[in-house]
Amino acid sequence: MAIRIIVHEPDEVLHQVAKEVKHITPNVQKILTDMADTMYDAEGVGLAAPQIGILKRMIVVDVGDEHGLIELINPEIVSAEGEQFGPEGCLSIPGYRGDVRRAMEVTVKGLDRNGKEVTYTGTELLARAFQHEIDHLNGVLYTDIAERVYEITPEGQEKE
Ligand SMILES: [Zn+2]
Repeated sequence: MAIRIIVHEPDEVLHQVAKEVKHITPNVQKILTDMADTMYDAEGVGLAAPQIGILKRMIVVDVGDEHGLIELINPEIVSAEGEQFGPEGCLSIPGYRGDVRRAMEVTVKGLDRNGKEVTYTGTELLARAFQHEIDHLNGVLYTDIAERVYEITPEGQEKE
């Protein structure tokens, strides 16, 4: 188990476009494992490789539903439907939250750690997590698109 350091705003790496993974090597698989370890340690529901300083198109997501841990290499949103509006946070922006409009349902295609093509359809929180993490691969943070960003207390309540 290896927990990596999570990069915080305003680190430049969070604003860059990540590169496609061309070859799935043991190192790529190790990065995925470390990303999941780091996400669970930080009690997050998703993490993108740039958040640990690696500009490669890789994400991990686990919203605590029946899918469990989802690892995706070169993920792409292939369809998006509906709309949801609600609070969102980011492990790279501790102490803040924002209200973000997202698609209600997305279908995402990518490769698993063995290079096999996989597709997931998620709604609500899972859809939100996919969109948030894939945005990271394009250098976009939720604060770039939120309608409102606000500070929260350590308990997760909005600060007065
Ligand atoms: Zn984030």
